[in-house]
Amino acid sequence: MDARPRAELRRIADRAAAELHDATAAEVLGWAGRTFGDRLAVASSMADTVLVDLAARHAPGVHVLFLDTGYHFPETIGTRDAVAATYPITLVTVVPEQTVAEQDRWYGPRLYTRDPDKCCALRKVAPLDGALRHYDAWVTGMRRDESPTRADTPVVGWDDRRGLIKINPIAAWTANDMAEYAVRHGVLLNPLLSDGYLSVGCRPCTTRVAAGADARSGRWAGRAKTECGLHST
Ligand code: SF4
Repeated sequence: MDARPRAELRRIADRAAAELHDATAAEVLGWAGRTFGDRLAVASSMADTVLVDLAARHAPGVHVLFLDTGYHFPETIGTRDAVAATYPITLVTVVPEQTVAEQDRWYGPRLYTRDPDKCCALRKVAPLDGALRHYDAWVTGMRRDESPTRADTPVVGWDDRRGLIKINPIAAWTANDMAEYAVRHGVLLNPLLSDGYLSVGCRPCTTRVAAGADARSGRWAGRAKTECGLHST
């Protein structure tokens, strides 16, 4: 499919935001697959393989972008490889410009302890921005119940910084909805999810979540940071 002009994408986003507000995840992903074809990408952390399963069913062949920061848990890399081998999707691994060793030489070791915003900018935001230039719309696994910072997540929105449509088909799903779907459909899950990690990111910045705390409280725990910047629009 050819790239659409930004103004046309904006019109599509506005119309879809109104029409798909209460649509099911299957309906939203089906619409996205038909509308954008190979200009659609799903971004997955491999903690949200329920989203990958849904996308594989309702937009088969879709590109699934996995951001390999170089700091992932081995379980996450194993999940990525199993997903690529199991689901009818096109797995695209996106890497930062510098390896961890190169970044350490340039900025000093453990940048994530001294300046996690810079580390995320280098290892997450810049590479994803580059990858998304090839698409008109991207799909995320953001859910409103993950944390207060995500409480207003729309099903379809406009990513103004990137000039793309941003689609969050499971925005209204709860943690229970995710678990029920995973059991019903035999979804291949990241084993860390059943080991107390309710939201999984880079190993140095992810801890288990205390009982009753929100899912993202284990990310950058004890620091003011709550988001990596991927979702700053
Ligand atoms: Fe760096 Fe931590 Fe951000 Fe990963 S989550 S890119 S290790 S600061």
